[in-house]
Amino acid sequence: MAKSRREIPCPSCTYVGARHGRVIHGYDIYICEECGLAFTYPRPSEEAVAEFYHSLALGEDLYGGQSPTKRAFFELCHREIERYLKSGKVLDFGCGDCCFLNEGDSSMFSLYGADLHPGIEKISHKNRIQFLIGNTLNADIYENYFDVIFTSATYEHFIEPVSMTDKFIKLLKPGGIIFIVSVPSYNSFNIKLHVEDWLINRPPAHINFFTIRSLTKHLVNAGFIIEKSWTYGFNLEPVKRRLKGLSAETSLKSLVESGATAKSGSVKPVGLLHKIAATIYFHFPYLGMGDKLAFVARKPEAR
Ligand SMILES: [Zn+2]
Repeated sequence: MAKSRREIPCPSCTYVGARHGRVIHGYDIYICEECGLAFTYPRPSEEAVAEFYHSLALGEDLYGGQSPTKRAFFELCHREIERYLKSGKVLDFGCGDCCFLNEGDSSMFSLYGADLHPGIEKISHKNRIQFLIGNTLNADIYENYFDVIFTSATYEHFIEPVSMTDKFIKLLKPGGIIFIVSVPSYNSFNIKLHVEDWLINRPPAHINFFTIRSLTKHLVNAGFIIEKSWTYGFNLEPVKRRLKGLSAETSLKSLVESGATAKSGSVKPVGLLHKIAATIYFHFPYLGMGDKLAFVARKPEAR
């Protein structure tokens, strides 16, 4: 079948014109002719996305729980931030279970979390973290307020990435840093080798599939200066799900919820092996074909 072209606006660079890429579980994915972003079209409504998240039965162990390796990974993220700054206000936008913020040093940084999930506030209060509700995080009130915005596993979900990035640049002080991690890369080995089973990485949860090129263009268009970008990780979960023979019809809700409850229990300490595993995961040279994207970008000093 010939790949059809449509006059569709790209949610990342706003260019009008995309060609049909593939169908994932009934959702059409188009590729922007200008920046290469792969995106779901038609776009899901904000209500549909909110309904999906609010329907999830999530406890404190949501999003897979605070495993030692995950905490070791977030420790590495803090070390990365400390290469640029030693003090200031750090906002985790989409803070989820506050795993990243819990690994932060509150003697160096003031820690802020924002999330759309209303249940998060309860968790954050225990841990010296100031909580701001995600969708009411008003960029007029908090303009030029934060030194660092950390955001993990968010850009693949944004219905309108342009307005979100504009908000981030407004929230940051001049010279402030945005640190983006855990955004699935469309150029990953998993996707190229057809290992990716799209059971988790699928609409309506994931609706944007960035690459180094498309996210660079997106951030530069918003006014950011790229400090560095890389890809990392090779996720074995799609392989495991294939071996288990999980059906393509398995609902996203049951996959996320079973992942969340399977690892509940007491918090285990981070050991040397966890640190080594996290370092290989985050810093091994994956030749631009790791599963996830990481970006450090700076808001210019004077705009
Ligand atoms: Zn585009």
